[in-house]
Amino acid sequence: MYDNDNIFAKIIKGQIPCKKVYEDDDVLFFEDINPASKIHVLGVPKVKCVDFSDFVNNNNKDIVDNFFKKINVVIEKLGIKDSGYRIISNSGSDGGQEVPHFHVHILGGEKMGSKIK
Ligand code: AMP
Repeated sequence: MYDNDNIFAKIIKGQIPCKKVYEDDDVLFFEDINPASKIHVLGVPKVKCVDFSDFVNNNNKDIVDNFFKKINVVIEKLGIKDSGYRIISNSGSDGGQEVPHFHVHILGGEKMGSKIK
């Protein structure tokens, strides 16, 4: 069940400030408040969705397709397409998800290790 008062819902509604990297009617990308790498941007679709599965299962193809295409737009805007980057989406308890609105982390700007965990 989606929590309308989660932090990212409030950021989307403009009730909590963020450092915007890219926004349009459907998506918002903003800097992570506690960056894990030199570049650490979070991306959210504006539809109400708890996690990856909720987003993919309960939204039409255009919305899903558009979100993933926009990740690529942001990667190009950040200038990390050629140097490389990592995209992560944490889901649920074992995945370590803290904020229950589906989001991706885009990490880059420095060399990262090959281990995820
Ligand atoms: P996750 O564990 O995948 O749910 O990640 C949540 C992320 O949201 C963490 O990396 C936090 O640093 C980040 N975060 C939490 N609150 C804010 C905020 N107000 N603005 C930007 N990033 C935030």
